This record gives sequence, structure tokens and C-alpha cells, in this order.
Amino acid sequence: MKIIIRTALLLALVLATAAVPAIAAIDIVASTPELADIAKQVGGNKVHVYSIAKPNQDYHMIEPRPSDVSKISRADMIVRIGLDLDMWFDALSNAASNSKVRRGAAGYVDASEGIKKLEVPKGQISGASGDIHVYGNPHYFYDPENAKIIARNILDGLKKVSPSNKAAFQDNYDDFTKKLDKKIGQWEKELAPYKGEEVVTYHQSAIYFLRRFGLKSFGTLEVKPGIPPSASHISKLIKRMKDDKVSAVVIESIYSKKFPDLIQRETGAKYEVVPYSVGSLGTKSYIDLIDTWVDKYKQALR
Ligand SMILES: [Zn+2]
Repeated sequence: MKIIIRTALLLALVLATAAVPAIAAIDIVASTPELADIAKQVGGNKVHVYSIAKPNQDYHMIEPRPSDVSKISRADMIVRIGLDLDMWFDALSNAASNSKVRRGAAGYVDASEGIKKLEVPKGQISGASGDIHVYGNPHYFYDPENAKIIARNILDGLKKVSPSNKAAFQDNYDDFTKKLDKKIGQWEKELAPYKGEEVVTYHQSAIYFLRRFGLKSFGTLEVKPGIPPSASHISKLIKRMKDDKVSAVVIESIYSKKFPDLIQRETGAKYEVVPYSVGSLGTKSYIDLIDTWVDKYKQALR
């Protein structure tokens, strides 16, 4: 009897061990939910991904938590936006002091590598101007063509961090970019009737998206990136909108509706709200996010 029990125990132990994957997942810490989703697409079942910024948090102003430091200290790879958007990442990374993911290491991925940056300031931006886009506009990830570059940067990083899984990552990357290309064709067709039209946004977040689809920015509710709307700026904007007959207003989901409501009352322009992040307004993935943007822009431009 004793032997039978012992055998059963041993068997249970063997089964329990077998349930644990032979290779531990590659731990990735991303700075935003968009990067986290793209990393998941490329890494597939070989990775575990965590995003520091949560959906609908203003990426310019993330308050790091101690738990984020411990996530980075255990990470095999980090993926960040770069430019000014996640400068808060440096403080976290320094505190974590993980040599695998520090700048220049195999596990350090700056997703902006190779992106053609827009609105790069010509001279030095003085702190007094208050403009927070100091190295150029950092919201490049809303252009789906740029998502392919981001995926490529992540692929390169993953191949370095886990060379034995190279082929699997390449397959996932190929699948993701194929899916994205098909979607881009569809999105271009959907927005084609509105080429050249102008749109008002809250923050200058959409510039890469607008350019991709042949649309233009008419202005923002913010006075400058990071400088909140003022009464005088809004009244000037309303006058310009009336003069130029611009009625497309698209607000990113993190911002207050106070001024958009005022513009709506004054101009009759009904505004649309787009999800700021993967995870806001029920979006489940990067492709889902852009799908929703295209939909909302179509509604605003109609
Ligand atoms: Zn910004």
C-alpha cells in the first residue's frame, strides 16, 4: 500500500512538473498598451508582456510606481516610445538597474528607431514656451505604417534576446504585418473621399495619422502641446472654424469635454471621441484601435 501511495505521489509530482512550460516566458515591459499589444503579436506565446501606462492615462504624465521598478528589474526586454513621451521610463530603468535592459543592451528596444519624425523643432525649444514635444511629435504610433516599423524593432530585439525562437518570431511578425497591410488598404479606401479635409483635435496627437490618410490638422484645443485650452484661444479657434467652414472635431478620450462641448454649442460641429489607448473605449488590440479611429474620423468628416 505504501509503495502504491508513494508511486501515486511521484506520478502527481511528474505531472505537475510537466504542466510548467520547459522554457520560461520572455518577460517584456512596454511603456504603453499599444507597444505591449504589438510586442504580444510578434512574441506570441513565447512572451509575457506588461504595460506601465494603463489605457487612458496621459502618456506624457505617468506617475511611476514601485511595482513598475520591480517589473523592469525582472524584465528580459523593454520596449519604449522614445522621444519625450516616456522620459519617465529613464528614472524607472535607473532605479531597476537591470543590465539586460539598460540603454544599448540586447533587451533595450526604442520603438522610434527608424521612424520619420514630424514637427521636429528647428531651434532649441525653451522651457518657457511650455511645449512638451521637445524632440518632435512623439505620437507616431497612431500611423499604422509606423506600427510595422515598431514591430520590426521589437522583432530585432526578440531575436537578440532569444535566438532559439527566431523562426517563430519571424512568422508572427510576417503574420502581423500582412494583417496590417490588408487593413491599411481598407482604411485608405474608407478615408479616400475626405482627402485634403481639415480636422480639429484636442492635443497634437493625430498628426501622423492625418498625414497617412491625406487629412490635415486645422488646429488644436490646446494652446500648444501640454498647454491647456484658454478662453481666448478657444474663441479664436471658433471664429476660424466658422470663417473656414471647418466642422470636423475629434477628441482623444483622455481629455475633458468642457471645451469640446462649448465648440459644439458655438459652431454646431458635433465632435467624435477616439480611444487614446488600446483598452480605451473597449478596443482590444492595436488594429482594433486604428479601426475605431478610422470609423470616428469618417463620422466627424461626414
Ligand atoms: Zn503629445
